[in-house]
Amino acid sequence: MNFSLIVDTFEQMEQTSSRLALTDYLVSLLKRTPSDIIDKVIYLIQGKVCPDFEGIELGLAEKMAIRALAQSAGVDVPIIEEIYRKTGDLGDAAKEVAKLKNQTTLFDDKMTVERVYSTLDKIARTLGPGSQEAKLRLVSSLLNNATPRESRYIMKFVMGTLRLGIADYSVMDALALAFTEDKSNRNTLENAYNVSSDLGAIAKLLSTTGLESVKSLQITLFKPIRPMLAERASISEEALGKMGRKAAAEYKLDGERIQVHKNKEKVELFSRRLEKITDHYPDVAEAIKSIRVDEAILEAEVVAINTNTDEFLPFQELMHRRRKYGIKLAVENYPVVMNFFDVLYIDGDNKTSLTYIHRRKILEKIIKGSHNEKLRLVPQTIVEKSEQIDKFMASAIENGCEGLMIKQLTSTYRAGSRASAWLKLKREYRSDIADTLDLVITGALYGRGRRVGRYGALLLGAYDSKSDIFRSTCKVGTGFTDQLLEELYNNLENHLITHRHARVDTGMEMDVWFEPKIVIEIIASEITLSPSHTAAMNSIRLGYGLALRFPKFTGKIRYDKKPEDATDIEELVSLYKKQMRTITGGR
Ligand code: ATP
Repeated sequence: MNFSLIVDTFEQMEQTSSRLALTDYLVSLLKRTPSDIIDKVIYLIQGKVCPDFEGIELGLAEKMAIRALAQSAGVDVPIIEEIYRKTGDLGDAAKEVAKLKNQTTLFDDKMTVERVYSTLDKIARTLGPGSQEAKLRLVSSLLNNATPRESRYIMKFVMGTLRLGIADYSVMDALALAFTEDKSNRNTLENAYNVSSDLGAIAKLLSTTGLESVKSLQITLFKPIRPMLAERASISEEALGKMGRKAAAEYKLDGERIQVHKNKEKVELFSRRLEKITDHYPDVAEAIKSIRVDEAILEAEVVAINTNTDEFLPFQELMHRRRKYGIKLAVENYPVVMNFFDVLYIDGDNKTSLTYIHRRKILEKIIKGSHNEKLRLVPQTIVEKSEQIDKFMASAIENGCEGLMIKQLTSTYRAGSRASAWLKLKREYRSDIADTLDLVITGALYGRGRRVGRYGALLLGAYDSKSDIFRSTCKVGTGFTDQLLEELYNNLENHLITHRHARVDTGMEMDVWFEPKIVIEIIASEITLSPSHTAAMNSIRLGYGLALRFPKFTGKIRYDKKPEDATDIEELVSLYKKQMRTITGGR
């Protein structure tokens, strides 16, 4: 397949702000893609070479990419640096550099998708000493035969700066349309995605053996399952009512969610975003080996702990584990324990269709049988009265938890869905103010005074899952320490764009815009009607959206959340309604 087909499509996609048009371009690209490489094309659309859970990154340093460009064009590094300075993007620089070359003699052979993909894959898999030099050679050999427009995208892939803004859901829409002519089949694809987390593999199945084989896709070890999520409840009475007056209450620990996959001595750990994070917790991976079943998929919350007092420590402590180097020391200085709360698969058996009570029994047996103090069960009790919940809540809070999870005893595990079979009951919900919200940074205003050279306020959006768009709900400028401001600034640099992103909707004017990527946690005093913010526009009153009043950053950057995991517009609407009920005394 000619790589120019991808280039043409991506160029068109970059120039549109319409989501429908984005899907159309994708559909036409997918229809023209041969089945044997459709998985690769899907990964390229997502700017990757494989699904996230494989934990493989291209990992070429910027300095090396500049050298590769210099080599391919036969010019000195400072010339490339100058072009890069002017264009501000290495992809654009690669295009300019390629134009400098004598093109006519170079493009006898057409660049193919197969060649681009296999070289990118090699770059990603080249590791260890001398790997940067080897990667450099691979990039420059690819650039040698690429046209200027192709060079631009090759460089964007290599640097991880392809910014098409395509969410998984849009890719599924496009797949359903391209291969079944019916968008409603997206649901089948979504179910398959929930148990495999691999859109490339699903696309391949769909295009080769059809929709029926996608339907029969099974849980596979080391392919993470998309997590079941919880809805909110405000008070214990409400939670109990929704559960049919009998439920399990579990501590809601303030750590990181981990999905454990084990096959005998092989153990991998996946984050809530389903990225492989085994390297952050080698001590946990080792401890898991003491579990006495061959094959298992389990879920747990990993929490930092004070080993002297056995107290849980706040979520932020786990940040010390998010590093590539020096992990050995971090393991010693920041000990953790695993607190298991679910079992999804044991020795060839899918357990997700069993009831909660049944799964908990299996889990208790396995974890107790491991006799390993790092592996624990999430504290749990069965409740039938709201006073029991309140009492258990008090003990959870005293023990450093965020609150409770209330779980329906008869419920199955519903992968990838936010279901009312799980309710989260947090301490703050008890006041009339809104709960913390997880919002996506979409733009910023430059700072003044002490914040010159940094951002003064960030524009935040909630997720509108129905249309796959982030709609603005507030600007936030408080709650930032100097250190957090610096960290955010450096992170946001990687996502800077010159115009409002196609998936961002707002009535606000900003100094700069970002790809919607980074999620932060916000606490606010109230939700109000707003003529300029577009979140939930027209849902409460015509011409008005919902905005947060006195928003404040809590200090938590939610690295564990994808932008699509941010607070949904519907949650915002229900929080608003709840708040109004409280104000009017339930009338
Ligand atoms: P939040 O923003 O409240 O942390 P979330 O949006 O990350 O939640 P939810 O499904 O809304 O995800 O809340 C459940 C989260 O709480 C899980 O993802 C998990 O990380 C954490 N958690 C802590 N203890 C438990 C438990 N006992 N059972 C399930 N999840 C738990």
